[in-house]
This record gives sequence, structure tokens and C-alpha cells, in this order.
Amino acid sequence: MTQYANPSAELRARVALEKHRFRNTHSLGQNFLLSERLIDQLLDEAALSPEDCVLEIGPGAGLMTALLSRRCHKVLAVELDRGLEPVLSDVLQGCDNVRVHFGDILKSDVAALTREAFDDGKYRVVANLPYYITADILLKLTALPEPPRSICIMVQREAAERIMSAPGSKQWCALAAELQYYGQPRVLGEVPAEAFDPPPHVTSCFIRIDRHEAPIVAPKDEQLYRRLIRAAFAMRRKTLANNLKAAFGLDQQAAKAVLAAAGLDERVRGESLSHGELCRVADALHEAGR
Ligand code: SAM
Repeated sequence: MTQYANPSAELRARVALEKHRFRNTHSLGQNFLLSERLIDQLLDEAALSPEDCVLEIGPGAGLMTALLSRRCHKVLAVELDRGLEPVLSDVLQGCDNVRVHFGDILKSDVAALTREAFDDGKYRVVANLPYYITADILLKLTALPEPPRSICIMVQREAAERIMSAPGSKQWCALAAELQYYGQPRVLGEVPAEAFDPPPHVTSCFIRIDRHEAPIVAPKDEQLYRRLIRAAFAMRRKTLANNLKAAFGLDQQAAKAVLAAAGLDERVRGESLSHGELCRVADALHEAGR
């Protein structure tokens, strides 16, 4: 991994937080990374190139933002906390390829923001966000009509294990299935709690999900496919037939007919199915007019 000697961005971030007497808000998950060396090591693994446009979510004090600015073509940073405005404006002085937008990423029109910020609308995502919004933001980004080309995000170690899990395993869940439908996840490295200021109570992992070049399955109706994934895991102890009944308003006979059309046993459980099998069920539901 590359080592960078110039500590100026780190120093600027630390001085700006002090100067503006910034106090971290626990409820916004404000556990900052203030080591330039560590962030550079993480970004080395993010597979970014100088032509890339990056949407950074939750820039905090802006140290990662400043380092992204050196490595990439353009950076759009979306931050919820307006209290960070003076800090970010100090830290990002001279970073002419960075634009900061204040707003809640979960309520923002990401497609419109990125279309406006980036020339061709193609972009990657880098984020160190509060862990309680990880799943929501990942599901939002990957379901966009033009999803990012890759997503690098800090997650709790347990979430990384779930995201990396394989179909049929104990950890396999709707989140893993949806994310693996979008792309290939990999763990880039573990980050200990002491690396954050203040330290959280969990161990973190920086992960990267690279969007598939070609879809791993091609359901006839993509939205229905996503609905099916969520339905399949909705009640884990129930059979898929029961979950289909609840989610798609089918009676017992219709649910069995869908499974038969997909070539599956009527007692099958949703969490045991691969993407290929789920796709056959989604297409059978589509044929049945759901
Ligand atoms: N990226 C910085 C770093 O690594 O030091 C800050 C990380 S801190 C864990 C999370 C940041 O996300 C905070 O700055 C917080 O204010 C911001 N944040 C929290 N919820 C957000 C939301 N819904 N939309 C945008 N930013 C959010």
C-alpha cells in the first residue's frame, strides 16, 4: 500500500474541529476517521482512478473528502449535519473539484444530484456512515435505475459477514441477496474501534461491492424480483408458499402452482434458494400476472 508523507489534510481537519469547537453528535453516528495514513490505505483498496467521479456520503470533518479530491476527477459529498459547514469549508479549501451538498441522503434524489454533479452520470460511492442506515442506503443505491459502478462502505463486522454470505447458509438474508444481485462484495480490511474518534463499540470492516458487468440473472420484471427477495426472507420459518401468499395475495393453490411452474418443491423455504431459482419463481409470478 502507498504511504503518503504530507500530513496537511489531517492537520487541517483536526485544527478545524478544534477551532469551530465542533462537538460530535452520537445520534448521527459521528465517529470520525482522522488518520490520513489509514484513509489512504483504505482508498488504495477502493480501486479508484483519476477519471472517476465519487459520491461521498457523510463526509464528516472532510478528511476523506480531501483525500478523494486528490485521487479523483470530481467529488460530491452529501452531509446531513449543517453544523459541519465551517469545518468542511476550512478543510476543503482549494479542493476545487469537490461540491458539498447538505441534506439527508435517505431523502435525497440521488439520481438527480449525481446527474447534475457528474458529466456522464457515471460514478462510484465511498461512505463511512452511521451503521443504522447502512442497509437502507445500500438498498436505495443498488435499486437506482443507474446504480453506482462500485460502492465502498464502512460496515459493522457482523453486517460484512451477512453481506458476504452464500445462499442457503445461516447468514444468507434479503440484504445479501439484493446486494449480490447488484454486484460482487469483498472485504477490503478490518478497522479497529480505536481508529475512530470517538471509538464505537464495534469492530468495523471496509467493504467494496463492484457492480456486475452483466446481470447474474435476468428476471422479466426487476421490481417484482426485488419484492420476491424481500418476501422470501420475510418469515424465515415459513415455507416460500406461505410467504408468497402473504406478500402477493395468492391462495394456497395459486402459490403451489407458481412453485410448480418454477420447478420447485411446494415445501421449499425461500432462504434456501439461489438467484437462479428465485428468478424462476419471479418469472412464474410475472406469468401469473402478479
Ligand atoms: N466520513 C467521515 C469520516 O470518515 O471521518 C465521517 C464519518 S461519520 C461515521 C458519519 C457521517 O455521516 C457524519 O458526518 C454524519 O453527520 C453523517 N450522516 C449521518 N446520517 C446521514 C444521512 N442520513 N445523510 C448524510 N449524512 C449523514
